[in-house]
Amino acid sequence: MTGIESEEHKALRTAVADLGTRYGRAYMTGVTRAGRHTDELWADAAKLGYLGANLPEAYGGGGGGITELSIVLEELGAAGCPLLMLIVSPAICGTVIARFGTDAQKREWLPGIADGTRVMAFGITEPDAGSNSHRITTTARRDPDTGDWLLTGRKVFISGVDIADAVLVVGRTEDSRTGRLKPCLFIVPRDTEGFTRRRIDMDIESPEKQFELTLDDVRLPAGTLVGDEDAGLLQLFAGLNPERIMTAAFAIGIGRYALDVAVRYARERTVWTEPIGAHQAVAHPLAQAHIDLELARLMTGKAAALYDAGDDAGAGEAANMAKYAAGEACVRAVDQAVHTLGGNGLTREFGLASLITVARVARIAPVSREMILNYVSHQTLGLPKSY
Ligand SMILES: Cc1cc2nc3c(=O)[nH]c(=O)nc-3n(C[C@H](O)[C@H](O)[C@H](O)COP(=O)(O)OP(=O)(O)OC[C@H]3O[C@@H](n4cnc5c(N)ncnc54)[C@H](O)[C@@H]3O)c2cc1C
Repeated sequence: MTGIESEEHKALRTAVADLGTRYGRAYMTGVTRAGRHTDELWADAAKLGYLGANLPEAYGGGGGGITELSIVLEELGAAGCPLLMLIVSPAICGTVIARFGTDAQKREWLPGIADGTRVMAFGITEPDAGSNSHRITTTARRDPDTGDWLLTGRKVFISGVDIADAVLVVGRTEDSRTGRLKPCLFIVPRDTEGFTRRRIDMDIESPEKQFELTLDDVRLPAGTLVGDEDAGLLQLFAGLNPERIMTAAFAIGIGRYALDVAVRYARERTVWTEPIGAHQAVAHPLAQAHIDLELARLMTGKAAALYDAGDDAGAGEAANMAKYAAGEACVRAVDQAVHTLGGNGLTREFGLASLITVARVARIAPVSREMILNYVSHQTLGLPKSY
């Protein structure tokens, strides 16, 4: 990992940017306002092999890693059309199944995730646990007669459940020796009895929607448990690190898009004798935003490289820092972009104001700014915990 991109990765960026430019922001807002999904872009990205860039070739993927998938997401975002479900379906669910799933699960899910014909959502957040995922209470117990699992609990803010064929649900099983609850992952198909969803009315302009899920004694065959019942935490983090890296790429893409709009505007808009971009009060914050985004991108590349090299522990710290840096850079870039356009920053025509809430998602999810600062305080710096 040199920090300098290979020719292959540069070529991937260019190719994805071409696809993104063909769709662009107008497509995204059009789809969202029509209450539709990004089916055309999703299918085209699939055809070009982008959706499964990180998945094994043996299952129809591109044989790359999170590095390649994060480049895809960043470049689509920079073109104004980020695909949020790339974070969830191939990056989290695809990775977990590829690394820990049974052969049957790999055969059933990975080819469809890679070619875009199947989508999987991911549910860990619970209403009464929030950032404290150690407190989740969705619990699986075994039916002693059939060997099936019975899963009960609630999830909140789960993205894309309406378009997902299944949700990878994080629950707990009881350790028969200690009686303690340990994390485990289940594939819950969308039409399973007892599994219901309610859309949450989010104030975010995005084609991907969020849902509250209720699992009421949902009966699942033994084959829906992903991997090993005793390695739940390891398996979970196999998915959470890619999620953070991909959220960083999502944030950098959106930040780059907003900055680009602002810079083009600042070059043209003239209200005195020179374009407003000549005023340092306008130019410097844009330059700062660019630097922040570039630094975040460097950290994201490092996190992805560590993850792809199999260094889960190193990737954990780097992924957290990348997500933090990218989330903050994105929020600042969008804020400055809106400001640069003056009144036009708040018009629908220029389409920047709606990015304010989208950018905030990267500060809150999948792990908030404060929880990352906590992580770095405790894990990296060895400072004591307050909670
Ligand atoms: C658009 C969107 C999409 C999402 N998609 C998914 C999804 O697909 N799947 C999924 O499982 N989840 C998803 N989430 C949920 C997301 O991961 C959570 O919102 C996030 O983890 C924060 O949890 P919370 O909202 O319960 O906030 P809380 O945990 O209630 O936190 C509220 C505030 O308190 C702060 N806080 C909490 N504890 C501490 C502490 N110890 N120290 C300092 N500050 C603290 C937090 O930083 C935050 O600012 C999504 C959320 C959004 C907004």
